[in-house]
Amino acid sequence: MSNFFHTKIEFLKGIGPMRAELLQKELNMYTYGDLIQHYPFRYLDRTQFYKIAELDETMPYVQVRGRVRGKQLLGEGRKQRLAATLVDEAGDEMELVWFKGVKWMEKSLKNHTDYIVFGKPTEFNGKFNMAHPELEELAEEKQTTSFLQPVYNTTEKLKNHRIDSKVISKYIESLLKIAALHIQETLSLDLIDHYRLTDKRSALQNIHFPESVEKYNAAKFRLKFEELFYIQLRLLRQKVVRRADLAGQIFKQVPTVTEFYKNHLTFDLTGAQKRVIKEIHKDLTSGKQMNRLLQGDVGSGKTIVAFITMLIAADNGAQSVLMAPTEILADQHYTGLKEFADRLGIKIGKLTGSSKTKERRELHEQLRSGEMKMIVGTHALLEDVVQFHNLGLCIVDEQHRFGVEQRSKLWRKNPRIIPHVLVMTATPIPRTLAMTLYGDLDVSVIDEMPAGRKEIVTVHRFDSHRLRVFQFVRDQIKLGRQIYIVYPLIEESEQMENYKDLMDGYESVRRAFPEYQVSMVHGKLKAQDKDYEMQRFVRHETQIMVATTVIEVGVNVPNASVMIIESAERFGLSQLHQLRGRVGRGAEQSYCILMTGYKLSKDSKTRLETMVRTNNGFEIADIDLKLRGPGDLMGTQQSGVLDLLISDLAKDAPILQEARAAAQNILQEDPQLEHAEHQNIRRHIQSLSANTVNWSRIS
Ligand code: ADP
Ligand code: MG
Repeated sequence: MSNFFHTKIEFLKGIGPMRAELLQKELNMYTYGDLIQHYPFRYLDRTQFYKIAELDETMPYVQVRGRVRGKQLLGEGRKQRLAATLVDEAGDEMELVWFKGVKWMEKSLKNHTDYIVFGKPTEFNGKFNMAHPELEELAEEKQTTSFLQPVYNTTEKLKNHRIDSKVISKYIESLLKIAALHIQETLSLDLIDHYRLTDKRSALQNIHFPESVEKYNAAKFRLKFEELFYIQLRLLRQKVVRRADLAGQIFKQVPTVTEFYKNHLTFDLTGAQKRVIKEIHKDLTSGKQMNRLLQGDVGSGKTIVAFITMLIAADNGAQSVLMAPTEILADQHYTGLKEFADRLGIKIGKLTGSSKTKERRELHEQLRSGEMKMIVGTHALLEDVVQFHNLGLCIVDEQHRFGVEQRSKLWRKNPRIIPHVLVMTATPIPRTLAMTLYGDLDVSVIDEMPAGRKEIVTVHRFDSHRLRVFQFVRDQIKLGRQIYIVYPLIEESEQMENYKDLMDGYESVRRAFPEYQVSMVHGKLKAQDKDYEMQRFVRHETQIMVATTVIEVGVNVPNASVMIIESAERFGLSQLHQLRGRVGRGAEQSYCILMTGYKLSKDSKTRLETMVRTNNGFEIADIDLKLRGPGDLMGTQQSGVLDLLISDLAKDAPILQEARAAAQNILQEDPQLEHAEHQNIRRHIQSLSANTVNWSRIS
């Protein structure tokens, strides 16, 4: 946007320095550009009203028309609240309540006046009420020409200073009047043509004050497309730049890989595994450093892909590291890979926090000399004393537990040429998110399960049915199977008292199954003890494993066929799916039983229903994203990318795909954006980056 949009908002008629300062503080709104991009978060639809008699607690938000009859202040001091009665045309009543800004509401709410109220209905003692509803006097209705009236985000503080949604709407209305001539097109005419987009000016006008449903939809689509297009363009350009910069070792030789395929691999790789290995192999022979994310649902067979990749490195005289987030998992990887490596005559080692000093010294030596080709371990691998002869490949399993910083420590272990990187995750990041967050990583997906797996049967049972569930457990154990019982524990670092559920559970399981052996594993155990308990279960010395989520990641006990999750409503959807993935790894039919009490929130119900309905990790990740929102899913690290003004990654996947394709085409054709038809885009990128050093913000 041109300089006009860098004008400070205090210069807009009606704002002034004082309000400008408030808007800055509360909404981060500095310039005309910020104001015009303060899009409504929803609209009041004049055509949709509910009668109080029709209300129902499951409704998220409703609009009700009625008259305020009586209002009163209740309680004292900080507990003070304002209650008012709203009566609709049919004569039904509901209560409106305020806990904050009580004094001001008390003054401004007019008795015996018709209002439109908007909020979430809640039922209490058989009567509906609405806390902090938005209010609008019915008489004002006629002022607006727009069929959908915008509703803007504000804060309590702004409202206390009379800057409510209405007032913001007035600011934007007057800004749009003077801005018209300054609004420049930010997309190329080609794009506008090809995707039949509405122009920028009309989009801004109609996103705030829709003239019709069609124009509103067109505006929304155009602005979402634009937003996602520029994010993708930025990510893709970064990728091009990074690619050009980093060279990688070339791994052309594959004699041992061939031998392994021929003589040692006991099963056929799935089509997806083969495809992914091809993708990786292509990277490793390209002369550029590989930076690849490997996604595959639990049990899809990522480990073997990792091993083959490590073999390729070994075949070319390079060493490789496989780093796991927990000791248990490192052990398991080590045990699994060592079996193959031994047969192939390749030296493999393990380094974890509990490796003995003498062992360590030996390992360090063998890594420095290059004698040891593969090393599996935990964070212990990151220590500076761990040096390599020629580290050529770093594989990180379950990447969400590693920080970027820790990873970069690994990369630096080869001072001559940066190692290839493969990040493996079983958290199926929805494609939309992966594309947005990892635009700079290449993504491979194993989207096919090894043949012969039986779908895990998942059921939801209430606590009151525990006896029957335990009988089922007994039957399964009699068939020779093993059982997991998992208890929720939010933070592994927390106090012992939080283990009460687990301990109580353990006791009751022991009492219920005196004839069987029970293991217990949790985060407070010393690594050795954890390992001991885990190994007892792996060796089938115990039939039941009582655990917290420490078993969530990667552990492989093919004979375990039942996963019972206690207080399942307290787990997130992705976590439930991860836990379920601990069973169903053998040939037997497996079961996942979700135990809960009767009292369940709506989201909990959705999570449980989803688990019962599907085993598809990607579908589950999508629903998880919808329930939790993207910020929550990925932590704060990438939140900058996700500061979206109008798009919703959970819903706008199709637009994102189009926008990404468009960005790819343009960069392919014109990487430097030099063509005449791309000048709009070039100018907009410049203005976007100028905005990050926004002079009006500094002064
Ligand atoms: P994850 O992707 O969860 O890490 P694993 O690599 O642990 O999965 O694989 C799960 C199990 O499936 C292992 O026992 C592994 O040996 C087996 N497996 C992997 N690939 C295949 C295949 N193509 N056919 C049959 N079994 C396979
Ligand atoms: Mg794994």
